[in-house]
Amino acid sequence: MPNVNLLVLILCIMCLNFSSFALGLGFKLEQFEERTQSVILENDFVRIRINERGGRISQFYLKEADYDFCSDDGSVFSGLGKIRDVYYNNIETLTGRHRLELESSSPERLTVKATYLAHSGNLAGLEISRSYTLREDSTFLDCRILLKCLEQESELQINLHSLFPIDPENNEVYHFIPSKRGLASFSQNQALLQKMNLCMDPAQPWCAFIDRKKLCGMALLAKNLEQLEGMFVWASANNFTLELNFNNLKLRPVAAADEWEAEFRLAPLQGLSQINQLGNSGAFSWQSDGALLEAKFMAFTSGSANFRVRQAAHTLAEDRFDMQKPNQVASLQWESGRQAEEYHLEWDAQSYVSTATMSLKKEQVESPSLLQSLPKKELHGPSGFYYYYPELWLSQEGQTSLAFGLRGDFRKHQDLRFAIDLPPGVQLPYSRAEILAESELELEGKPYHRVEIQSFRKNSYTNAVMLNLLLDSKFEEGSRLFIQALWKDGSQEPLAIKLRQAPQLLEIGSGLRHFKIGIHDDLPSDSWPPFSRIGINVFMLSSWDAPLMLYDYKGKGYLQKQVDDIKAAGLFPIYGYPSPYNHIGRVLQKMEPYYGGAGTLFHPEKSYQPLDLEQARAVNIHGKKVNMPCPSFHGPLLAKAEDALKSILDYGFEHMCYDEEMWSSGSTVCYCEKCQKGFADYLRAHSPSLAYVDPAQATLNPDKYPRQLDAWWEYKTDMVAEIYRSLRRVIDTYENKGGEKRQVWVWVDCSVGEGRYGAITQRLTDYAKLGRYVDLLLPMVYSANAEDVAKVIANGRKALEGSNAHIAAGLSPNRSYEYHRVLSGNLAPEDAMRQQLLESFFNGAQAAVVWSWKAALRGALDYHKINQAVYMLLPVEDILYKGELVEGLVECDNPEIKLSVWRYQDKLAVFLRNYEPETLRARLKLPQFYSKLTDTLSRESFSASNNLELVFQKDRVKVFLVE
Ligand SMILES: [Zn+2]
Repeated sequence: MPNVNLLVLILCIMCLNFSSFALGLGFKLEQFEERTQSVILENDFVRIRINERGGRISQFYLKEADYDFCSDDGSVFSGLGKIRDVYYNNIETLTGRHRLELESSSPERLTVKATYLAHSGNLAGLEISRSYTLREDSTFLDCRILLKCLEQESELQINLHSLFPIDPENNEVYHFIPSKRGLASFSQNQALLQKMNLCMDPAQPWCAFIDRKKLCGMALLAKNLEQLEGMFVWASANNFTLELNFNNLKLRPVAAADEWEAEFRLAPLQGLSQINQLGNSGAFSWQSDGALLEAKFMAFTSGSANFRVRQAAHTLAEDRFDMQKPNQVASLQWESGRQAEEYHLEWDAQSYVSTATMSLKKEQVESPSLLQSLPKKELHGPSGFYYYYPELWLSQEGQTSLAFGLRGDFRKHQDLRFAIDLPPGVQLPYSRAEILAESELELEGKPYHRVEIQSFRKNSYTNAVMLNLLLDSKFEEGSRLFIQALWKDGSQEPLAIKLRQAPQLLEIGSGLRHFKIGIHDDLPSDSWPPFSRIGINVFMLSSWDAPLMLYDYKGKGYLQKQVDDIKAAGLFPIYGYPSPYNHIGRVLQKMEPYYGGAGTLFHPEKSYQPLDLEQARAVNIHGKKVNMPCPSFHGPLLAKAEDALKSILDYGFEHMCYDEEMWSSGSTVCYCEKCQKGFADYLRAHSPSLAYVDPAQATLNPDKYPRQLDAWWEYKTDMVAEIYRSLRRVIDTYENKGGEKRQVWVWVDCSVGEGRYGAITQRLTDYAKLGRYVDLLLPMVYSANAEDVAKVIANGRKALEGSNAHIAAGLSPNRSYEYHRVLSGNLAPEDAMRQQLLESFFNGAQAAVVWSWKAALRGALDYHKINQAVYMLLPVEDILYKGELVEGLVECDNPEIKLSVWRYQDKLAVFLRNYEPETLRARLKLPQFYSKLTDTLSRESFSASNNLELVFQKDRVKVFLVE
């Protein structure tokens, strides 16, 4: 096979978009400088684009049908043929940049090779290469995955993941998975309700979908059934996936055998509305219409063949077909025989024979049921205490939490405790756990101080213990701290944590004036870092004590000291509280005995109000009562929520933040009698001309009842918004003699997309509707990726246009202490906190709150990152707050760098960023009117006319004030 890499490279340097489309089969390379960003493969039938991002297929266009299987919105999550390491959820495999090469260019076939070397986590040193081959005379793409283990032992599970976009109005998409219990076939709508649609007993190595509206579809075929653990279709409102989970892999960097290989094919389907069997040569489908039977074969390649139907030795129908092109359909019809149970179908082509056994009896059996979630797997790896960052960043300027997780079951051990050995220069000013003993010892030739701490947990738990550390002048960079578990007659191997000193905080004066940056916490003020010097100006008290007001009223001023402490530290006090219904989910699930007390209302006076919990439960579409309140059952539950809010106001807080996580399966609730009746009333009031349809029927048959289904969503989301209307009224009026504007914030689902079927399908939280009654919506964007934050905030801002509320960001770049992160090292970039704050405010957020900050932040390093973000925002805050987002005013000559510009009066705020590792250069082109440009981090000013060259190297974000 001739290697044409060099040739291609030389040609590409000469000509930016080298292509060869002269023949039936051609390619085009899309380059940026020397890098190939994507390769387009094209023949007479399809056009396929392989993207360097994730090595995924970002376009798969079927020409004759005018059907595109991808919608490439630039997101790495779009596209086909992506691979993931599902076992440890290592996102690096999804998003990394692959090296693209065109490997061979014979006249009949073209191969693109995408190679990726994982640099971190459990996959570090693993080389993943994929090849995609397109032939001149077919529509399918043959793909191969090859893993090579180069550095360390890897245990992983590869998932092959293809995401297909779907118009939510299209109700004619059907999915097919052959299980050992029969062929599972189901509509997109059924898939949506069932969620995962997992088959753990695949009978053949393929899954497929068909869009009956366009008679088009795609099959994902693996070569080897034995390699597959399961297959599934994951459906959401705007898309679905076809996925293959391969068996677990264990690779070692020693033997040649430690390579792993899998092959698969992405094969477009045409002209069929059903699939009964599929193979490498084509697809069979069949149906019966009374006495008349019909079988079809769609051949993947052109050529002539005999199509035959036999029953035992009798040929019932036969014809010869001459297929001029790939993906043509041949059809045979015949009369049903007397023992018409099984027929033998045979497609006899020149170079192959495809056969199928057609059984009508089997087809009448109901589609076999599929699973809704993956079976639980035992994680391998160490047991004990773990810290999950590679190092712990501390500071002399403020206490930093050392929060670590506990994994394993230590219940059998008596006297379980932690020993923490502190090197010189490290103090422990605060511990939430009881200190049992302190002693001195020598480690690594240095005097260490040992603190032994009571463990309040004895089995797996994250954030097992919280304690604060503080550096003093004796600290030596890079010294190590040790933690280990001790118990009667035993101990864990000590775990060493490398300590680093964070950079000094920049002077930010009184910080941001309009925008808010918050954390939520419940620790006493003597354990706080200097929040306002860092740039944090909101303290959200999230106390577990206060839910006790469900069972007992603590009286006026109960939290006044906390409120005063928060204010004294220059922070905005807001109470962060589980949910409008006070963790009713937990109450419904297991805390029922306490609820008698919870039902006791204190405002205006203590009284007992009985509540039939069964009545409050939502009924899902399968008719089952679930541990979720019914969205239209307000009554005593809402009264209790109002009462709890009054308690919080009594306790001393003025502002409230809710956590809207009640209706986690919004699309499958609530079909109780009350909701049905409420819906009927809603229709009469809002759309009198629309006939009532049982909402379950409308949900199951959206094509038949599109308007009723729409109205059903409106009704449900109205019911949820109603709750906030009541809470708003309470917070505005309850003992608010001064009439001060109190704030209501709410954490919401982050899956806000374009159009109305965004977040509301998940949690019934319609941003625009909630925006009528609350001040801030905080989508929980708990992602390591700043681009995700940008997208959610931009969409949220659009969704809230014209409402009273503003968008804000709920951030947690490293989430909480999830054990798989320890093994995978799947951590956010060190600069994530600064990147995400800048993305938030430059996309229109007015606040950001960090969830679980002690585990989600990299200690004092993120004090510095937050502080730096605030320092960069200060000179432009007014422009962002009072101004508008403008497009086209400023130009950047490097398309790899993303640009956001805000304008207020005669000033601009400009944000430039790129999150890739390469060095990039760019020039900004400003309108003539402006004369001065100030880098808000270095605070250096430049003349705007000087055509300033910007370099992106280590620092990937820049903010400018333009005057
Ligand atoms: Zn209901």
